[in-house]
Amino acid sequence: MTDKKTVLITGGAGFIGSHLADYFIDKGFFVIAIDNLLTGDIANISHLVNKDFLFIKYDVTNYIYVDRHVDYILHFASPASPIDYQNYPIQTLKVGSLGTHKALGLALKHKATFLLASTSEVYGDPSCHPQNEDYWGNVNPVGPRGVYDEAKRFAEAITMAYHFYHNVDTKIARIFNTYGPRMRINDGRAIPNFITQALKNEPISVFGDGKQTRSFCYINDMVKGIYKLIMSQYNFPVNLGNPHERTILELADSIIKLTKSKSKIDYKPLPIDDPKVRQPDIKRAKEILHWEPEYNLIEGLISTIEYFKNKLNL
Ligand code: UDP
Repeated sequence: MTDKKTVLITGGAGFIGSHLADYFIDKGFFVIAIDNLLTGDIANISHLVNKDFLFIKYDVTNYIYVDRHVDYILHFASPASPIDYQNYPIQTLKVGSLGTHKALGLALKHKATFLLASTSEVYGDPSCHPQNEDYWGNVNPVGPRGVYDEAKRFAEAITMAYHFYHNVDTKIARIFNTYGPRMRINDGRAIPNFITQALKNEPISVFGDGKQTRSFCYINDMVKGIYKLIMSQYNFPVNLGNPHERTILELADSIIKLTKSKSKIDYKPLPIDDPKVRQPDIKRAKEILHWEPEYNLIEGLISTIEYFKNKLNL
């Protein structure tokens, strides 16, 4: 037994979850990662075996029991890419609802501080731009994204209920598009798709006319923001993301240039309910957490491209 503070991360073998595991171990915490490996990957955490780290393969939609005291809980378990939550709609709904309930129950029992990984998807296809935390969103509950968006909206509601009714110290991070090493090659999101296609000199699949916008945050910035939020005294939702907005076509062009690819753009139909714009208003994070992203897209893409080159053996 160590006297280190313990952090439990659900979804700890996933993209953001595994980077959080690294970050908290470096900061001197003992980390427990729980993951059922539906979309997570054991390779993301295999380097942590001899560290202050424990991995439990488990589905957090079931009752969670941990036989050591837990100080912090980061609830990151969930399919997170549109393809994943369309392939696993029931699991997505269950982990956002039942999984959040179980993780909050554990926080109550241990008097642990709890952070919910929420999402910019709670804003849906927004009619307010950029999106601030007071905007209630524009979500189609029965569309293809509804399973994720509504699960996360429910997760926010139950998190606030545990805060007000049970006095659990809860935080809500509304995470905007985040990218970096350890995203899966077949994840289906724009950055992994475009990098893989560009490295293989295959057509770049731009959906719609490519004029829809997103704002991409590098993983190292995101992890710092999440750390600052869970250590803060603030209990209402906080947007975390990079406010630099660009079109998907601009993103594709940057990736083609950085990889010196011969790929051409291949326009494909726009998926249903694909948000037309997305840009975080991060005024609250700046004021309360003194946080803002430091990496620009080119820096972040360079290290992400390196990661994908290795993964693809190129
Ligand atoms: N997109 C695209 N080609 C792809 C994957 C995604 O043009 O191969 C578009 C998608 O339609 C969306 C944007 O890129 O407008 C970002 O998609 P992503 O899946 O990365 O995340 P989202 O922000 O939609 O959750």
